[in-house]
Amino acid sequence: MPTNKKTKIVATLGPATSKKEILRDMINAGVNVFRINFSHADYSDVTERVKMIRELSDELGSNTSILADLQGPKLRVGVMAGEVVVAPGDKISFVTGKPFEGTAEKVYMNYASFPKDVKPGELVLLDDGKLMFKVISTNKKDEVKAEVIQGGPLKSKKGVNLPNTNISLPALTEKDIKDAIFAISQDVDWIALSFVRFSQDLIDLQALIKKHTDHKIPIIAKIEKPEAVENIDKIVAYCDGLMVARGDLGVEVPAHEVPLIQKQLVLTAKKARIPVIIATQMMETMITSLTPTRAEVNDVANSVMDGADAVMLSGETSVGNYPVQVIEKMSSILMSVENSDLISVPHNPPHVKTNRYITKSVCYHAAIMANEIKAKAISTLTNSGYTAFQISAWRPSAHILVFTSNKRILTQLNLLWGVKAFYYDKYVTTDETIEDVNAIACQKGFLDVGDMLISLAAMPIANKGMVNTLRVTEIESCNVKK
Ligand code: PGA
Ligand code: MN
Repeated sequence: MPTNKKTKIVATLGPATSKKEILRDMINAGVNVFRINFSHADYSDVTERVKMIRELSDELGSNTSILADLQGPKLRVGVMAGEVVVAPGDKISFVTGKPFEGTAEKVYMNYASFPKDVKPGELVLLDDGKLMFKVISTNKKDEVKAEVIQGGPLKSKKGVNLPNTNISLPALTEKDIKDAIFAISQDVDWIALSFVRFSQDLIDLQALIKKHTDHKIPIIAKIEKPEAVENIDKIVAYCDGLMVARGDLGVEVPAHEVPLIQKQLVLTAKKARIPVIIATQMMETMITSLTPTRAEVNDVANSVMDGADAVMLSGETSVGNYPVQVIEKMSSILMSVENSDLISVPHNPPHVKTNRYITKSVCYHAAIMANEIKAKAISTLTNSGYTAFQISAWRPSAHILVFTSNKRILTQLNLLWGVKAFYYDKYVTTDETIEDVNAIACQKGFLDVGDMLISLAAMPIANKGMVNTLRVTEIESCNVKK
């Protein structure tokens, strides 16, 4: 397993990844998080896959994480009766209500309030923006007439994007609520919400989680709507991670605006010290080919240089021909850039005196000092995982070794850049704990004789309080304790 890889890989599950052997090979090749895409998930299938992943994680000691991705208010057309092709200038109606088989004149749309929400002149984009329509009129009830601007084959069940329309649908649809409750019952590590627009969308999901479980499940806001980009400062305050969902984002805003939005979102996430995932079309060519394009290799590498915690694969692993090889390729790209001196994350030390100020400051200085003294690792003891988020955001060149007695966060923290978590449940004295922790780090191959290590702790140790202590050790012996 590329245990030295710091940037994390999120791989989407699908028909190409239904066998346990494939999942094992993918973990060994560098997958850290598996994503369940609830746009396509079947519950019995998910139950089986979650079980397999948990078993493999125990067997390999990989702390493999599981992310449940809720579809959100995704708009789609209905099924077509045979092949339908439309040409510029053609007129077509989008009809709501009861589903029917579509033709070149009339197609079903799964969004009941579409005729009420849309206005003449607004754009309707279909199939990743391949087809484009302009709204001519609406009867405000069940039918919207439009003109084809950009034509082509109009395929069944393709996604619809309405970049100019104020969509009145709630962020959590009935399907999302059902899927979220199911995902919670499966004990997933993270939940992502698609098409987030306002901070309220996240507050609603938090409330739903709280109603169905007594522990916190962190939330990823998928940024793929212009409203989300506009409201990003409020959104980051209510989520635990971001995803730059470039698939839908690149249709909702012109694709050429996505690169700068990606950079801005990464910076926003790093300022908030939450993880950020870059998603979609990263290694698209590898769905059918063993070789990624140069542009894809550069895209993955540049995402790391921007400061991404994780890069994501969708079709490449869900339906692709090479789900293992794509991970191997991606891991090699990540490992060849992630330690470069050319990567510089902005350093704005924590200065707001909140109740976590001391901990934040210790974590910041641990990261800076680790680079200065060329420490191999920073270790931290945590119950909530808070210090792992804090240290990771500063991108120290040292590994971030997290020791915790909270089994739940072992897998959760696996999304964070540079973080490796280990189970540890003895809290006796600081000296003994630091010795134990050093021994584990040696045993796992992160430390050797002569290496420098920075250990963070909360003193007195038995209180399990907030981190307030930084200790530097030069490893004198790597005798692994029994
Ligand atoms: P999706 O999200 O694959 O669920 O659509 C990612 C994206 O839109 O890029
Ligand atoms: Mn999307």
